[in-house]
Amino acid sequence: MGYTEEIYERVVAKNPNEPEFHQAVKEVLDSLKDVIDANEAAYRKVSLLERMVEPERIISFKVPWVDDNGNVQVNKGYRVQFNSAIGPYKGGLRFHPSVNQSILKFLGFEQIFKNSLTGLPIGGGKGGSDFDPKGKSDREVMAFCQSFMTELFKYIGADEDVPAGDIGVGGREIGFLYGQYKRITGLYEGVLTGKGLTWGGSLVRTQATGYGLVYIVNEMLAAVNDSLEGKTAVVTGSGNVAIYAVEKATQLGAKVVAMCDSNGYIYDENGINLDAVKEIKEVKRGRISEYVDYVPTAVYTAGKGIWNINCDLFLPCATQNELDLDGAKVLVANGCKLVAEGANMPTTREATEYLKENGVLFMPGKAANAGGVATSALEMSQNSQRLSWTFEEVDAKLLQIMKDIYAKTADAAKRYGHEGDFVAGANIAGFEKVAEAMMAQGIV
Ligand code: NDP
Repeated sequence: MGYTEEIYERVVAKNPNEPEFHQAVKEVLDSLKDVIDANEAAYRKVSLLERMVEPERIISFKVPWVDDNGNVQVNKGYRVQFNSAIGPYKGGLRFHPSVNQSILKFLGFEQIFKNSLTGLPIGGGKGGSDFDPKGKSDREVMAFCQSFMTELFKYIGADEDVPAGDIGVGGREIGFLYGQYKRITGLYEGVLTGKGLTWGGSLVRTQATGYGLVYIVNEMLAAVNDSLEGKTAVVTGSGNVAIYAVEKATQLGAKVVAMCDSNGYIYDENGINLDAVKEIKEVKRGRISEYVDYVPTAVYTAGKGIWNINCDLFLPCATQNELDLDGAKVLVANGCKLVAEGANMPTTREATEYLKENGVLFMPGKAANAGGVATSALEMSQNSQRLSWTFEEVDAKLLQIMKDIYAKTADAAKRYGHEGDFVAGANIAGFEKVAEAMMAQGIV
């Protein structure tokens, strides 16, 4: 048995009941096989893979808070500090009822390689809670965030661990978390990213993941002498990543005809009216079904199935494992040419393989959605310098970072004989830098 297979078996045995974590480790290890085989003796000598698949630390804690009826609620809180070889832990906080240790370990593990790919000095981490902000009052969300931070503040810091937003954690939540951190520590420092513009946030951070996704799609198309102009796109989700992916794709000439939330999807043959979606989702915190009140010619369909809509480009921007093999088969049958993951691991392993085998250009999330964390790192730089860069400056840096990620990913795939396999390329390019740093730093 090879080193990568051995490590995968060890991960499954030592981390029972963590299927998402197993899935993420398997995908990475499988695509690193050639690199690892080529350096097996050196890596085995220092147990490099054993150390890489084990988080440096997992903090788990209770989060008690009082709801609007005066009842005490208790949620679970976590921070997974996975790997700090190339910089302070960096990764989002997710507030969603599905959050558990397996999901946060998969996200934290992926984050190590994604952050490495950005070329910026940030390690990998992830955190969150099974708290559901949906349907809660602002006061309840504040009470929860304050209680969450009252425990978390002990383990984070501008040079130690810098959380950001993710599903269920947007500007409102980051504000409440930051306020409580400042109150407890007395420090006004860049300990969280995704902050508001008047209190240390960076321009473009809100747009960064969605814009970055479209920038890398543009690179993928340019490499085959094509462009976004005139393409029909489907973007799943209707949250932060999805909204700004639609905005940039539309600016670059594509027509986005469908979006969704966890209840259903909308189809608008004339192209999505993004002002309506922003009002529904960012202002009213409503459901995507309300879109037909703004655009009566659009069609709302309850339930799953957004992949049934014909498109050239499919950009999954909602959540993990949303696109399965059946969905991928429909996309291929309908002539879809490109899938790029705005969300983390939205495509199942079988679906990914099917898309690649059938000639669909496929970019994995750790490369395609890295624009968010990259711009978070730019926010950290501005906080350290006590400066704010203009929108144009940050956007230009984001564009360059996404071009570099595309180039590194394509190059790494080619070097190991997997030309055009961006899953392999992203994993290899991300791994090489972290492995080198871990080898240099000794057994820690
Ligand atoms: P948001 O909470 O802003 O939006 C998530 C969207 O996905 C919502 O529209 C939500 O609908 C929808 N959704 C969730 N679960 C499902 C489901 N099972 N089926 C269909 N739709 C669903 O999150 P973000 O936009 O921030 O994050 C989306 C993804 O992108 C996540 O995988 C996240 O990890 C990843 N990501 C985010 C980054 C960022 O900067 N924000 C950076 C890199 C990756 P509903 O309202 O019904 O729940």
